[in-house]
Order: sequence, then structure tokens, then C-alpha cells
Amino acid sequence: MSKNCNLQGMMKAVVSLEELKKSPGYPSEERFKRGPVPVIECVEDIPCNPCELACDRNLISVGKPITNLPRLVDPDALCGGCNKCIIVCPGLVIFIVDKTYSDTEASITLPYEFKPLPKIGDKIMGLNRTGEIVCKGTVHKVQTHKSFNHTNIVTIIVPKEFADDVRFFKAR
Ligand code: SF4
Ligand code: SF4
Repeated sequence: MSKNCNLQGMMKAVVSLEELKKSPGYPSEERFKRGPVPVIECVEDIPCNPCELACDRNLISVGKPITNLPRLVDPDALCGGCNKCIIVCPGLVIFIVDKTYSDTEASITLPYEFKPLPKIGDKIMGLNRTGEIVCKGTVHKVQTHKSFNHTNIVTIIVPKEFADDVRFFKAR
């Protein structure tokens, strides 16, 4: 399996969810139950590791050689939600997913490089990795800063059963 770069949910080469779940950057269901966690959909063995360097909590490791696939380490470490890993990832393949957001909903925090930016409360359609509509949702948070280097951060809320599928969205 190799690292793969996803461009805003419209992947150059779509990797199935089944294959992603076998990669070392995809959390187990047990880990999802502990709270927010980075979902790293990076499956191409390119020399890249800013995600590892960005995480102060040491949740992500690439190690040596630098072409290793990034993996989640220390299943007990909690993600602080700083989103630094999302901002530094050139492939736009890191998402912070919280399946504990509520009994019925999950939050998905993702990189967003389009304009105009959505607004909090906007009603959206959740799109899967191939751009198909899979569910309805709502924009929960929008973060932008000049230090983000054009990668804005948007958090959406979707029904929990679609948390593994939704990786982008469009307005409805
Ligand atoms: S959001 Fe922050 S704490 Fe969580 S994995 Fe990314 S860099 Fe680490
Ligand atoms: S920064 Fe992104 S593209 Fe680079 S290794 Fe990490 S997850 Fe993969």
C-alpha cells in the first residue's frame, strides 16, 4: 500500500474505504470511541512527514525511512483538535473525526481551499470520496488565518453512520 494525495475529496485515484481501513493511519473503532482522532488517508509512499512534525501530542508517526506511511501511535493519547496536521498536509488527506460528538452525529473537520468560505449554520450536502452526495449536514465551525497558508479549516456535522464516508461537502 502506498501514500496517496486526496484533493478536496476529489481524489486523483480513489482508494476504497476497505483499503483505507487497512492502512496504518486509519483509526480503529475502539479508538473512535475515545473522542476526536486524526483520520490519515495517506496511502502513497512519497517522502513526506510534516504531519508527524506538526503534532505536539505525538499522535502521528512517519519515522524512517521518510517514505513510510504515516501511522497513528499511542492509542490512549487524545487529539487536542489544534488542526495543525490538517494545515500542514500538502495532500489534504487528514481529517479530524469525532464520532462521540453526540449520540447520533459525528463532526468532521477538513481542509477547505475554495472561496467563498461557508458560514456557521449553513446547510450542506455531505460528499463521499468520489464526490457523490451521501447525506445532509450543517457547518459547525469555520477557521481561517493568514498563517494557514490558504488552507482553511471547516467542521461539519453529519449523521454518525456517514462519518467514514463524508470527506467533503457542497451547499444545499
Ligand atoms: S489536530 Fe493537533 S493534536 Fe490532533 S492529531 Fe492533529 S496535530 Fe495532533
Ligand atoms: S503530511 Fe499528508 S501527505 Fe505528507 S505524509 Fe503526512 S498525511 Fe501524507
